[in-house]
Amino acid sequence: MENRRNFIKKVSMLAAGGLAVGNLSAVSSTNIQAKAKKIVGLQIYSVMRELNVDVPAGMKKLAQIGYRNLELAGYDNGKIADIPVSEYRRIVEDAGLKITGSHVNLVDELGVSKYTKENMPVILDFWKKVTEDHVKLGIRSLVQPSMPPMETHDDVKIVCEVFNKIGEITKSAGFRWGYHNHSGEFKRIVSEEQRHAASQGGRRGPQGDVIYALMLNNTDPSLVFFEMDVYWTVMGQADPVEYLNKYSDRFPILHIKDRLVLGESGMMNFDKIFRTAYSHGLDDYFVELEGIRPDSGMTQFEGVKRCLDYLINAPFVK
Ligand code: MG
Repeated sequence: MENRRNFIKKVSMLAAGGLAVGNLSAVSSTNIQAKAKKIVGLQIYSVMRELNVDVPAGMKKLAQIGYRNLELAGYDNGKIADIPVSEYRRIVEDAGLKITGSHVNLVDELGVSKYTKENMPVILDFWKKVTEDHVKLGIRSLVQPSMPPMETHDDVKIVCEVFNKIGEITKSAGFRWGYHNHSGEFKRIVSEEQRHAASQGGRRGPQGDVIYALMLNNTDPSLVFFEMDVYWTVMGQADPVEYLNKYSDRFPILHIKDRLVLGESGMMNFDKIFRTAYSHGLDDYFVELEGIRPDSGMTQFEGVKRCLDYLINAPFVK
């Protein structure tokens, strides 16, 4: 009797095992189908340290993980990771990936950080050269990823004027120009008039204007888009969904980022962010992962794989 019971137990365990294996392969084939359907992009800054050790091998690895589109980082005078742009494009395409965007920092490249009337010709010449090189990369969007100094409303106006002009340059080259935020853009600046009015009005100090809103309001929507980094927006104590709804035609591309691996901090409402962005016509998005140090116990490649798996398994991601 005991033996029989053990036998039945073993058989049912085997059956359960068989079932589990069956389910697992069903899950994995669903996963492969989902991977094939969902086009997920990656900002390569996320894996830069490990990728640049061997770019062709690293690109193949990213394709194998399941990424499809890339947003570049690290452009430096006609080269990316010391590789001329045309060759870089060939390496990426040989791996089965597509370059759709690129981040270029004026500050790194030119040693000019402040946008002023005097700096404007130098700044525009810089972006013309960057644009020519990026035509060779076949991108759809060129993005400035960091904030020029803006302390007054006039500073913001000059930055926006320059942004509009850069937008014209890239538009005539066939791709759009945009700006990527961190958290500093959600600080407020106060004009002299606001300060004066507040001093007349009562005890409360002047509230001022949020820099990001000023940037949105003072740029031409046909020339400048905003690649909202949803994590840095939250870190700026602003709500990405509120901005997506209020400026519904300005965010065709998003940076999908969390404190570390996507979905693990619990602080990001990706469900609502994706649903809202889709409802306003989201074109593209890039995963970004920052903060994987060599002693993190996880490689950058492992980190971006976990981010992709999160999006593949997320029912709200198309
Ligand atoms: Mg970002």
